[in-house]
Amino acid sequence: MSIDRREFLRTSAAAAAGLSLTTSTAEAADVLPVSGSQTSVAPLARPVVIASGNGLRGVAKAYEMIAKGSDPLDAIVAGVNIQELDPEDQSVGLGGLPNEEGVVQLDASCMHGPTRRAGAVASLEGIATPSLVAKAVMDYTDHILLVGPGAKKFALNMGFKEQDLLTNKSRQDWLRWKARLNANDNWLDHDDDISIKFSTGTINMNAVTASGDIASVTTTSGLAWKLPGRVGDSPIVGAGQYCDNTVGAAGSTGRGEANIKVCGAFLAVEFMRQGMAPEQALMKVMERVIAMTERRLLNDRGRPYFDLHFYALSKDGRYSSATAYQGGQFAVANEKGARLEDSAYLFKREERPARR
Ligand code: ASP
Repeated sequence: MSIDRREFLRTSAAAAAGLSLTTSTAEAADVLPVSGSQTSVAPLARPVVIASGNGLRGVAKAYEMIAKGSDPLDAIVAGVNIQELDPEDQSVGLGGLPNEEGVVQLDASCMHGPTRRAGAVASLEGIATPSLVAKAVMDYTDHILLVGPGAKKFALNMGFKEQDLLTNKSRQDWLRWKARLNANDNWLDHDDDISIKFSTGTINMNAVTASGDIASVTTTSGLAWKLPGRVGDSPIVGAGQYCDNTVGAAGSTGRGEANIKVCGAFLAVEFMRQGMAPEQALMKVMERVIAMTERRLLNDRGRPYFDLHFYALSKDGRYSSATAYQGGQFAVANEKGARLEDSAYLFKREERPARR
């Protein structure tokens, strides 16, 4: 495998930046030193596929496809399809938790590094694999984002099959939630109560092939019990996922509203472009998220009531994941196999404020 001089200089600078991580992160904010991340420092350890923790089967599948020569986006879309079609995963696709009216509305986006293209769908109903519809938007239209009924019409025209996505389990969870409605609905309460008790999930997956081609995808049923039409970060190119074939890829899961404001995936890739290692880039994104968080979502010590999870890999095959709070894991597949690794974090588990 050859590497040209410019790439060598860039990746060396990135590796050097990675070495100073603990000091610079700890100095940059009132945070504990980072630990737990298994950031790879071996250059050109490719291919690599990373994903959110629910993507263990998916990264294994995508890695196997890439090892056999598959396009990186085809591979990771096949990887996330496993979760989309799994009725037991209530954060995505079939069986995803519905909106407040009991309707499953799905969001997804993807990017293909080698051809610099993107596609996305939001508030899509009745189609279990929004990642494939997002890819179809990318492959067959001059557009990037289709939403709601237009996205569904497009999918049906492209031959996707409509199905009822609300499983019995998710319907019963929705009914249980409805039965407890009031303080936990999607309307802002104006009496100091904070309504953030919503489950989150989602799958983000990113890959770099042996030759350095990169792709990213994120797919979700979004925030459970959301207002109909609410769109999270997952289908927003630059927030829920982003890739640049000359630099790397990044994506997120967790509270989309917090991520959209910092364009987290784009920001992570830009930090890597400046020479930061994936872990350092993600920690700086997390710090930015907190700096941009509105007062009602922070406790007296400035700790957020929510969590957000970022994932990143660089063109040379280094990777990482970071969360606000200790305890997160993510999925990785490379020549050592598919496994879960611990995510880096800003704050210790015990610093997490009890949810109000
Ligand atoms: N990020 C997703 C959204 O805000 C939800 C999640 O990851 O759980 O829609």
